[in-house]
Amino acid sequence: MTDMKDMNDLKEMKDVNDCIFCNIASGEMDVPLVYEDELVVAFDDVSPQAPVHTLIVPKQHVASLNDDPDPALLAAVFGAAREVARLKGIADSGYRLVQNNGADAGQTVHHLHVHVLGGAELSVQMS
Ligand code: AMP
Repeated sequence: MTDMKDMNDLKEMKDVNDCIFCNIASGEMDVPLVYEDELVVAFDDVSPQAPVHTLIVPKQHVASLNDDPDPALLAAVFGAAREVARLKGIADSGYRLVQNNGADAGQTVHHLHVHVLGGAELSVQMS
C-alpha cells in the first residue's frame, strides 16, 4: 500500500518534472546562465520588463515563500541578486527586487524566484 510519505514524494517528483525553472536549473533546458552557485541559478527573463531583468531561482523546487524555504536558501537567493546586479553593472545605479507569491501577486511560475530589475529609472508604482 502507498503511504502518505510515498504520495508526497510522488507529488514532489511530478512538480519537479513539470516545472520549467527546475528544467532550466538542472540544465535540461539549455538557457544561458548569468550566475550559478551551489544553491541557485540566474538567467535573463524571456519577457524583460526593464533593460536588465534577471531571475534568481533556487535549484531546489520550492513553489513559493509559503513553502517555508530554508533560510539559508533565501540568503543565497538575496546574495545572488546582489552579485547579479554587480555583474550586470547596475549595483551603483540601483535595482529593484520583486518576488511574487500566489494569484493576487500575479505569480505565473510556481517555483520561487526573485526578479532583479534595473538599467533605467523604474516606475515608483508598487502595485
Ligand atoms: P512571476 O510572474 O513572478 O511568476 O514571473 C515569472 C517570470 O518568468 C515572468 O517574468 C516570465 O517572463 C518568466 N519566464 C517564464 N518562462 C521563462 C523562461 N523559459 N525563461 C526565462 N524567463 C521565463
